[in-house]
Amino acid sequence: MKNMIFIGAQGAGKGTYADVIKAKFDIPHISTGDMFREAIKDETPLGVEAKKHIDGGNLVPDELTIKLVEERLSRDDCKEGFILDGFPRTLPQAQALDKITEITQVVFLEVTEDVIMQRLGGRIQCRKCSKIFHKTNMPPKVEGVCDVCGGELYTRDDDRPEAIKKRLAIFQEQTAPLMDFYEKKGVVVHVDSNDPIPSEVVKDIMKKIE
Ligand code: ADP
Ligand code: ZN
Repeated sequence: MKNMIFIGAQGAGKGTYADVIKAKFDIPHISTGDMFREAIKDETPLGVEAKKHIDGGNLVPDELTIKLVEERLSRDDCKEGFILDGFPRTLPQAQALDKITEITQVVFLEVTEDVIMQRLGGRIQCRKCSKIFHKTNMPPKVEGVCDVCGGELYTRDDDRPEAIKKRLAIFQEQTAPLMDFYEKKGVVVHVDSNDPIPSEVVKDIMKKIE
């Protein structure tokens, strides 16, 4: 059984690695952020409620988030395992999850602040079609111009250095108590996510969770 949680700061590559690892074990990748975005798009009662909090830059209340995850984990496709991404984010969420099921591994993807600043700081996005590029890692063919639609490329407000620092501080604050909780259970594996070659990071994750 692989009941896993992936934890890491913005820019740690959680989503990227979760997508590769889920295919190797044939288990679902469950992202609460994606589930909320889906619910908002479909204008379900959950989506309408969640939108109020997300638009204000806040977390969705624990009770609502826990109910959503509990329902998702009860489905058949989670029988052999799952990868949780973006949940738990608070100690009450971790405690509630503990009552729902047993977590077998917590994969902590560690990146230095330098690398995060480089990855998020170089991110540029098309104003017209939203396609994402990176100034050095994935540059457009013509500087400042979208390859796809010719639109203007810009740096998002939340990718400016000051905003990145603030998001990281919030992450540290929220995550430290969670890591304590799982370290005590002895289920945490630490993975160095600074390596620029994704296949190397994946190899390391596989070695540590097997
Ligand atoms: P980000 O990395 O920007 O936080 P996510 O896609 O993980 O992006 O989440 C988007 C938003 O959804 C969050 O800002 C938060 O409001 C809400 N959200 C996601 N996961 C949780 C959670 N476990 N608990 C509470 N709110 C959550
Ligand atoms: Zn474009």
